[in-house]
Parts: sequence; structure tokens; C-alpha cells
Amino acid sequence: EFERRVVLRLLSEGLLKQSGGYLRPTRRGIAFLRERDNIRGVGEQVRIVTDTGKVIGYRELPQAIKELFPGAVYLHAGRTYLSVKLEGKRAVVKLVPAKTPPVVTSPLYYTMPSEEEVHNERRVYGIPVRYVTLTVQDVVYGYVVKSFPEGQVISQRLLEGELSYSFRTKGILIEFPPRVEWTELQNAEAFHAVEHALIYAAQMIVGASPTDLGGVSFPSGHIFIYDAFPGGSGVSARLFAELEKAIARAFDITSRCTCEDGCPRCIFSPYCGNNNKILSRRRAAELLGDVLALRLAATRTERFGKPIV
Ligand SMILES: [Zn+2]
Ligand SMILES: [Zn+2]
Repeated sequence: EFERRVVLRLLSEGLLKQSGGYLRPTRRGIAFLRERDNIRGVGEQVRIVTDTGKVIGYRELPQAIKELFPGAVYLHAGRTYLSVKLEGKRAVVKLVPAKTPPVVTSPLYYTMPSEEEVHNERRVYGIPVRYVTLTVQDVVYGYVVKSFPEGQVISQRLLEGELSYSFRTKGILIEFPPRVEWTELQNAEAFHAVEHALIYAAQMIVGASPTDLGGVSFPSGHIFIYDAFPGGSGVSARLFAELEKAIARAFDITSRCTCEDGCPRCIFSPYCGNNNKILSRRRAAELLGDVLALRLAATRTERFGKPIV
């Protein structure tokens, strides 16, 4: 009863809204929470300070470690900054002179998921799928520098020290069987591409925004797709319910493109932690075709291999 009254009050004040049977904070609600420190699960923030000591803004974690690692080019209020340091919850940036040729940076990172509690479980085309609470650890270990706007890779660098951030959220775990006739690398290429395609499909099937969901795949066929915001947002719960449609759409995305083996129109993602490498559109299409034809044996397997985001 107390919770119900609180929710009604937040709805009437326009801080919460109802959408698709879920309660979500409104833009105003999110701004309200951001003004307040120490509300767990809503996103801890990094303070962005210039080398002359001026605070120019804040960025939530985990996004902050992907955008403000030392060496990152950070765009803010129409200006270009270079991050020189990220320590704890403070990033120090330096203004880049306007005449410098424009470049952008993308982080190289991986994600280590660990499932904690199973809330729901079902089979999708015979494949075991669970809806779980999980802890996600994002680890940024390097970055690529690209020309802008062409996107040509100029250089690839490793960070002196890895940056990591862990948070709890909710998500789904799909356990596809790996292909015995494929090598571990070929399986990694297929499942990484399936993961990208499912996140893309979710934008159309459940109306997710490009940054609502995170994903990580293993060459063993394990794919996690989770709410990217600490605490969870309910988007992966909707995907869990609509997964048949999302898999069918992911098959369309991977089978209909006419590119060689992956391109920005099908499976490339600007949020990939691996610079869109180890990614095969053709293998993903072959695998998803077999899933839809109910040709894959559904046995739960042990997770192995390196996580690819
Ligand atoms: Zn393509
Ligand atoms: Zn990726």
C-alpha cells in the first residue's frame, strides 16, 4: 500500500510514467535522481573536470569508463576534449585546439557476466533461455583512434591500467549449442554476430533504444543480453517474452544483407567492444536458420572461452 501511494504520487508529479505495462522514470524523473547523490542502482557518476579545475559535467557509470578513459576524445557542449586521467569518480580532460584534425575514439572492452538468480526459464525454438539477475563487470583495456567522419582506424592502443566497473542488472541468458564442425574462433564469430543481431532486432521488436541493452557472447554458445542501466530497466524482460520474434528478425537481418560477411547495415555496431572484429554474418545466418528450423539439439552446456562484446 505504501509503495502504491508512492508510485501514484510519482506518476502524478510526472517523475514516473507507465509504458507497456512497466513503470519507467520520465526525463524529468531521471534528472531529479541525477541531482541526488548516493541513490544506488540509478547510476553512479563521474565528475568531469578540466585541467584548469572547472567542472564541465557528469557522466554515469558504466558509460563513463567507456567514454572517458585516458586518451579518449570526449565531445561536450560543442567542444572537443581529450581525457588525460580517470581516477575513481573524477575524470580530468584537456581542451583540444580547434585546428586539430578531427578524430574519434572507441573503447576496446569486454564484459564478464555472472548470473545470480533465475526468475524465469523457458525454451525458445527448443533452446534453453533464462531471465536472470546478474552482475556485469565491464573492463576497458584499450581503444582505437579513428578519423572523423570517415571512420578509418588510425591507431590501436592499450591502456596502461585496465578500468573496470561492476553493477547488478537483469537480463536473459540464451544457451545455443556450439557447432562441433566449427573451430572455437568460428563459433565465436557466429555467436558474437548473433548477439549484435539480437540487440538490433530488439530495437524493432520491443522498441529498445540502441543503448538500452548490452550483450556479451561466448564461443560456447552462451549469449547474455541485459539491461544496460544498473538496476535494470525492464527492456530485457520484454525481450524474454518476445524472443521468438526477435530471433526470426535476427535471422532476417543476417540472411538478407548482400555484404561480404558483415557491414554497418547488418551486424556492425558502434557500441561493439571489439571494433566489430570476430564477427561473421554468414555463420550467424546459418546458425539462426538451423534454430528456426528446430534443427539444433537443446542441451545445456558448460560456458567456455573468452567473452566478446
Ligand atoms: Zn551487411
Ligand atoms: Zn561486438
